[in-house]
Amino acid sequence: MPQVRAPSTPFASVWFDCDSTLSTIEGVDELGNARDPETLAAVAELTNRAMSGELALADVYAARLGRLAPTRAECEALGARYVETLVPDARLVVDALTHLGKKVGIISGGLLPPVAALAAELGVADTRVFAVPIHFAPDGSYLHFDVTSPLARNGGKVEVLAARPSDERPIAFVGDGVTDLEAAPVVERFVGFGGVARRPAVESGSEHYAPGPSLATTLPFLLTDEESDLLRSNPSFSALLHHR
Ligand SMILES: [Mg+2]
Repeated sequence: MPQVRAPSTPFASVWFDCDSTLSTIEGVDELGNARDPETLAAVAELTNRAMSGELALADVYAARLGRLAPTRAECEALGARYVETLVPDARLVVDALTHLGKKVGIISGGLLPPVAALAAELGVADTRVFAVPIHFAPDGSYLHFDVTSPLARNGGKVEVLAARPSDERPIAFVGDGVTDLEAAPVVERFVGFGGVARRPAVESGSEHYAPGPSLATTLPFLLTDEESDLLRSNPSFSALLHHR
């Protein structure tokens, strides 16, 4: 277990991955569960081939969404599921970071409408929500996703986070997956989160790793000693600091 090290300088912004970081579900699995077993198996195989590096994420993304063809109504339902399955203390952690004057953002390889629904619930400004836009036909059926989105290909989070403006730096980024860890070099601090899915490659590759299950286990890595003291003396947030 790595030593917890509080930052010496406050982070100006804190970014979170969505699936298995803010919410306990994986959006693509959730969409697949509403399909027949054959589609579900095909989607799982595509995901595995992307994770093993056999296929590029951009190709898998298109093939997977083509198979799933999520409707507008299904995307709305997924947004509601994200909210129902928030990781413990997610709401309070976002409130605490905002209270301390930090900008909070969400960056996800998931679909924008459901991720935006989760962001709205958490009070995250929509200008700091990055995910893959999707287009529907007038009857609500699936048309296509935005193929120009960097988040639908490998290295997308690196690209988006590297381009954040100077008033958001220093940046801390929290995520559970290898595409999150990939972005560690372009932020000032990456914190791996194992509260939903403990991934050995991420745990061993992260200088800072929060075990969960509460999202509050990330706070010791995100707050200076002074910021922790401020929260500790605030009755609304003091309970968050006990998750060590
Ligand atoms: Mg994730």
